[in-house]
Amino acid sequence: MAEIIRRMDAAEPGFDAALTALLNWEATTNPTVSNTVAEVLAAIRNNGDTALLTYTKQFDGVDAAAASELEIPQARMQAALQSIPAEVRDALEKAADRIRSYHQHQRQESWSYTEADGTVLGQQITPLERVGLYVPGGKATYPSSVLMNAIPAKVAGVDELIMVSPTPKGFVNDMVLAAAAIAGVDRVFTIGGAQAVGALAYGTETIPKVDKIVGPGNIYVATAKRQVFGSVGLDMIAGPSEILVICDGKTDADWIAMDLFSQAEHDEDAQSILLSPDAAFLDAVATSIAKLLPESERAEIIRQSLSARGALVLVKDLDEAITLSNRIAPEHLELSFDNAQDYLPKIRHAGAIFMGRYTPEALGDYCAGPNHVLPTSGTARFSSPLGVYDFQKRSSIIGCSAAGASELAKVASVLARGESLTAHARSAEYRFLSEDRPGKES
Ligand code: NAD
Repeated sequence: MAEIIRRMDAAEPGFDAALTALLNWEATTNPTVSNTVAEVLAAIRNNGDTALLTYTKQFDGVDAAAASELEIPQARMQAALQSIPAEVRDALEKAADRIRSYHQHQRQESWSYTEADGTVLGQQITPLERVGLYVPGGKATYPSSVLMNAIPAKVAGVDELIMVSPTPKGFVNDMVLAAAAIAGVDRVFTIGGAQAVGALAYGTETIPKVDKIVGPGNIYVATAKRQVFGSVGLDMIAGPSEILVICDGKTDADWIAMDLFSQAEHDEDAQSILLSPDAAFLDAVATSIAKLLPESERAEIIRQSLSARGALVLVKDLDEAITLSNRIAPEHLELSFDNAQDYLPKIRHAGAIFMGRYTPEALGDYCAGPNHVLPTSGTARFSSPLGVYDFQKRSSIIGCSAAGASELAKVASVLARGESLTAHARSAEYRFLSEDRPGKES
């Protein structure tokens, strides 16, 4: 029988090229998807609610007579909160508390300092006014993503949170609505895909235009975010989920197999890779995968994901694994070995790092506290998890005293005349104190 997941050996010739091919995910430049998304966005921009209704019917099977029908009233959100089982509400509230506590540490504060001549310089932090939270809802629903998107925005002090999430065939998930109520979301619309991104970016008669759109989604959502960039702020362009596990071979093979499944079950395009210096352990994980797969609820998605983009890779040692990990820059990195903390200084690029055998990525996905919206497809090289800082902006503060202005004007006037910008130069020169005026006889 064919292997469910490929085996690779980092020592073999051709490994580098094979790894590059495995990591490649170019879907947001897929021309068919790009063209569909461009068409949807143009229609939303030109025809607002009418186009939104058409696409919501076409892609989600929801036939609303007016766009206002696509809004969930606050009372319905509160009713959902009351109706879910007590243990579910309790879990959502506990997760929300932990996510809030963690994110409170991320808040940036304004600062300033005063120079000897009385000039004040600083940076003022202000929250965004209105943000759009994309919560995926095509193949699965994600109450956890509601918390992860909304809570940092609330901690930042954003005035208005507009959430969108598709409801295929009109099925509304009460846990999603309850999470929105707990997190303090202001308005919820049951729209998704490129049409929802377009509605938030441009505004329609019913959907308010927002300042920034955050949150993960499928290829249509990611491509739409790429195309609206410039009209609206964005957190990141998220690709399919990924996990990279580094294990010394001493963790239970079933645990590691299930950690790989936990990403693979998201999506056929998700990526799960294990690096280990222990060949027998890789065999044991392959055996666990074969054993556990048939009993998994989302077996078909997991099988496709593992076979298309998964790998069990033999490496020389943990140091080589870390070097490869830095090259991959994974969204989730599990360090399943003792004293993982000692290796932290060697890790340069990763969205979130899970340390030790008792820290599966799943705990971070739901309730540990850090955000689960993370950079994917190698973008951890230059970007960070969604956080409070994504909902705050910085304004520079400059307040010159008369003496300070006179000093600075000497510098500015020379530089401005060097650039032939004489109005700049003269504007600065007006601020010379008479005794500072260049050329003044003493
Ligand atoms: P989704 O909400 O992202 O996408 C559903 C929408 O896609 C539909 O409403 C529809 O408008 C559009 N669509 C589907 N087929 C289309 C077509 N043929 N043409 C035009 N539009 C079409 O939900 P999803 O599909 O379940 O994807 C969710 C993604 O988000 C998964 O890849 C999952 O791994 C990812 N995810 C990531 C995180 C994270 O934190 N990184 C968390 C949760 C989910």
